[in-house]
Amino acid sequence: MKPVILTGLRANNDLHIGNYFGALLPLIDMAKHHADEYEVNLFMPDLHSFTTPIDHGNLQRDIMNNLRIFVAAGLPLDNPSVHLYRQSYIPAHSELTWILDCFTGFGEFSRMTEFKDKSAKVGTEHIGVGQFNYPALMAADILLYGATYVPVGDDQRQHIEYTRNIAERLNNKFGELFVVPKPVKEQHEFFGKDQGLRIKDLADPTKKMSKSDESGRGIIFLGDNPTEAAKKIKSATTDSLGKINAANRTQSGVQNLLQILALTTGRLIEEVNAEYNGQEQYGPLKAAVADAVSAFLTDFQSRLANVDEAQLRAKLESDEKQMNEIANTTLLKVQKAVGLRA
Ligand code: ATP
Ligand code: MG
Repeated sequence: MKPVILTGLRANNDLHIGNYFGALLPLIDMAKHHADEYEVNLFMPDLHSFTTPIDHGNLQRDIMNNLRIFVAAGLPLDNPSVHLYRQSYIPAHSELTWILDCFTGFGEFSRMTEFKDKSAKVGTEHIGVGQFNYPALMAADILLYGATYVPVGDDQRQHIEYTRNIAERLNNKFGELFVVPKPVKEQHEFFGKDQGLRIKDLADPTKKMSKSDESGRGIIFLGDNPTEAAKKIKSATTDSLGKINAANRTQSGVQNLLQILALTTGRLIEEVNAEYNGQEQYGPLKAAVADAVSAFLTDFQSRLANVDEAQLRAKLESDEKQMNEIANTTLLKVQKAVGLRA
């Protein structure tokens, strides 16, 4: 058996260019380059989609659209070591979550930083119980397949530690049930710690582009009309210094535009910086970025429109069948251990 790399991308909205260049492309790159030595599980965490409120009328559309985006971005559907599936189609995720919940302390989840932050914002009366115990669902996502490597940002560090703890806790109590995922430090060594790429919001370049941002003015969504997207670039916030210096940390708007130009044209950031450094007008840079973004979107959207829907559906169906078998094997071991099965 090859070791398993596992990763999911929540479908709670249309994806933006930050998600695309910061998460999706690296993920697909990994699927392409590691599929010889690893099984690569890429799943759509649909049960995680509504731990925070969403418009449920759009969920099915967003799930399928995001899966198509994976394919349009280059995910190889014909590689038997790359597995693509929707979480809710594998009921073992929900079943194992309940069992893990029963071996988890209330305090253990109350201490999760993400939960503390979110509940401080909306109040414990309004935060969903799903937001409270989703680390157990995340642990089930990982443990059912014996995944060792799971690329996560710093915000998910505690959840990986919990996954390791709960796996070890049950292994100690019941014998070897689970493969324990690697510690966060080794995860970072394996994936190259947080490649660090963060595309900034165009309207407020001091913060990152985020799909749940209310106004949407500073975000380039992959589904944006290319002409409208070009307008967003042209009205991007810059600064009043009047001279481009890519090394100046106070020019975050300009740095962001240079970054977007490099990414959407496939050029090295150093080369783009060298071309624009010293220029005393921002107009030409904005025009170049607007053209590049609009061309990128036009090209991407045509690839998206040409995704072979039948091939995608067939891949999902066959992988979901295969993943059910693997997940159910792990689940049965656990059910036997806790006395639910003979
Ligand atoms: P939300 O507002 O719902 O948190 P988000 O845009 O922050 O949405 P996430 O679903 O939190 O997106 O993250 C999905 C992936 O995209 C993560 O791997 C995250 O690191 C990456 N990502 C998110 N925003 C950016 C960005 N601005 N630049 C680069 N990568 C990003
Ligand atoms: Mg986020």
